[in-house]
Amino acid sequence: MRHFAIVGSGPAGFYTAEALAKAYGDQARIDILDRYPVPYGLIRFGVAPDHQSLKAVSKRYDKVTDEPGVDFIGNVTIGGDVSVEELLALYDGVILAIGAPHDRKLGIPGEDLPGVVGSAEFVGWYNGHPDFADLDPPLDGTHAAVIGNGNVALDCARILSKTQREFEGSDIVGHALQALESSAIRTVTILGRRGPHQIAMTPKELGELGHLEESSPVVEAADFPPVEADDALEPGHRKSINILREFAATPPDASKPKRLVFDFFAKPVRVEGDGKVERIVVERTELDENGAARGRARDMKSRPHWSFPPSDIRRRRWMAFLTMSVGASFKIRAG
Ligand SMILES: Cc1cc2nc3c(=O)[nH]c(=O)nc-3n(C[C@H](O)[C@H](O)[C@H](O)COP(=O)(O)OP(=O)(O)OC[C@H]3O[C@@H](n4cnc5c(N)ncnc54)[C@H](O)[C@@H]3O)c2cc1C
Repeated sequence: MRHFAIVGSGPAGFYTAEALAKAYGDQARIDILDRYPVPYGLIRFGVAPDHQSLKAVSKRYDKVTDEPGVDFIGNVTIGGDVSVEELLALYDGVILAIGAPHDRKLGIPGEDLPGVVGSAEFVGWYNGHPDFADLDPPLDGTHAAVIGNGNVALDCARILSKTQREFEGSDIVGHALQALESSAIRTVTILGRRGPHQIAMTPKELGELGHLEESSPVVEAADFPPVEADDALEPGHRKSINILREFAATPPDASKPKRLVFDFFAKPVRVEGDGKVERIVVERTELDENGAARGRARDMKSRPHWSFPPSDIRRRRWMAFLTMSVGASFKIRAG
């Protein structure tokens, strides 16, 4: 009989348990340990509450713990309650499947100002993560900036833009639903250091933005390379670019009061504000020969770095998110 400990009950932990159970049958005992009392990791606390079909993958994980010899043990923090060494003394094999739980810093001045919220915190807040129930994100300003060009950024932007009715059928927690319902945010700007071809957004998530009840996407046609350049893209990515091109070709719906603005070639250089976030200064960028974003320092002086009227920048309270998707690929270059 072999004894295995798997630390982490996200997808990696459960697929490992499933594979071990298949390989060893009744010759193995498998304990899946997690620091939280409930399983599934980011499937529970990350994947958006209005994407129930994706969250349904947890039903497959339930089948794994239904197997005799496989148990979930919550409320155990490895490195706190128990050390890896202690586990190694108790089990034949220890597998660490602890994910990547922390937001990365951007490393720019002002990112610690109140009102700048990491995506792990914000996403945890609306998903009922116990560590972030008291986050209380400031939703009383009219603008929010989401930094990053991946699906997590889209999740944050979509959740900020939806009406209460659009959350029907989701499992968003009550405190978030209530706070979002009274949110004053009318414009959500998604900032990306590079251009449309460099996004890490998938067609389904992008397509949803064209069907929001109260918000209309805004994309600048001038940000795209010539359409022939799309031929070189992988089909799924080309589909995403086509959706963005459609957004760019369609004027925002005047009957909808909210806007979801894609601001490409915009590198955040600092967050400013008097005791709280009030504005983000971005530098315009261009792609260098390797496809990386190169700052155009001259643009910081010669033209506004933000697409909203300056009066709004001064007067309104802002909220900004630093998304994990940005953290994963962000390379700051001195302008
Ligand atoms: C906002 C967001 C939206 C996403 N949306 C999608 C989507 O729509 N579709 C999709 O396919 N993917 C999506 N993902 C990605 C997907 O959630 C992750 O790829 C996946 O959850 C990673 O699995 P994992 O098991 O490696 O880590 P996790 O899911 O993070 O699981 C790690 C587990 O380890 C536990 N743990 C960590 N440290 C310890 C410790 N010291 N002791 C004990 N336990 C510990 C954690 O509590 C957690 O339960 C999304 C991610 C995020 C953040």
